[in-house]
Amino acid sequence: MLRVDNFSAGPCTLPDVVLQKLAEELPEINSSGMSIIEISHRSADYSEVHEETKELIVSLANVPDDFEVLLLQGGATLQFAMAAQNLDVANRSIGYIVTGAWGQKAFADANQIGQASVIWDGATTENRRGPTPEELDISDSPDFIHLTTNETIHGVSLPTLPKTAHRVVADMSSDFLTRNIDWDTIAIAYAGAQKSLGPAGLCVAIVHSSVIDEAPELPSYLSYAKHVKGKSVANTPPVFSIWGANKMLKWMKAEGGLEEMKNRTETKASAVYSAIDSSEGFYIPRVDPDYRSKTNVVFNLADENQEQDFLAKCVEQNLVNLKGHRSIGGIRASLYNGLKVSSAQRLAEFMNDYRKSA
Ligand code: PMP
Repeated sequence: MLRVDNFSAGPCTLPDVVLQKLAEELPEINSSGMSIIEISHRSADYSEVHEETKELIVSLANVPDDFEVLLLQGGATLQFAMAAQNLDVANRSIGYIVTGAWGQKAFADANQIGQASVIWDGATTENRRGPTPEELDISDSPDFIHLTTNETIHGVSLPTLPKTAHRVVADMSSDFLTRNIDWDTIAIAYAGAQKSLGPAGLCVAIVHSSVIDEAPELPSYLSYAKHVKGKSVANTPPVFSIWGANKMLKWMKAEGGLEEMKNRTETKASAVYSAIDSSEGFYIPRVDPDYRSKTNVVFNLADENQEQDFLAKCVEQNLVNLKGHRSIGGIRASLYNGLKVSSAQRLAEFMNDYRKSA
């Protein structure tokens, strides 16, 4: 079987051993004569997988006791509205630090529900950087800050969360479990699973107890409190995705946990950025150095007409899914936890060779 080096932005590549485990173990769970996707989500066999998955997230991401881990559907997109509703934006406000397309979408959804405002707009920088501390004056209102720790399309990362008296809602879809999280500042952290966690269909929301205690009454699926009460099985959870995440999380733990994932992310990102920075202007990075994403490296060729040829030559070398998002074009290499270090190194070598032969 051919396995290519797959730089997809999501859903994305998973380690071969995880895929093999999924294939081998899918037909039957615990000598039951049934697979995990054919049994009740209230059965003992499924409950074990469900609870273990939450525990793995807690231990890998060092989640403190005063947070609840919820396994939800609706993607990170549902969290744009759900977070706002649970934070009671009818009575409280959220200020959005917008560093790219996803923050903009999060703001647009919350803005339909209640008091949302943009407190820093990356569009003024063509989404080439995040805010400097001096640019952020968030000493008093709003009640909460929403930010996207890593903008998947524009490749802008926030190296640190802003120092604020207000708790932060963090969309961590594209860098969850690749960096440390300062839980003291977090009200809600959420992440779609399909980047570093496993198959699509699952969104992890990690919610501080104060948010749950202070939330208004909401319809069942929209209420974090009701999911906590129902242990995330108030309705049928995405059992296959949770089982897939379980395998991926166990793999991360066995490989050395968050520390190792962080180191590998650094190594992968620095291989690709070195190829860009040593190219004497042949490759142009999109983002200012201090805000460069380590999981989505976005760049152009100085001669943008050459990008199609570059991408075609990449495919010939089995380096695939490097085309930038359709809204901004260019090249994007996504380097999530499932991508091998050697894949990023192969890409960097190819970039050097391509430049020299151009
Ligand atoms: N936020 C970010 C940062 C994303 O990268 C994505 C998906 N690419 C989303 C939100 C939306 O996620 P979903 O497709 O799971 O709704």
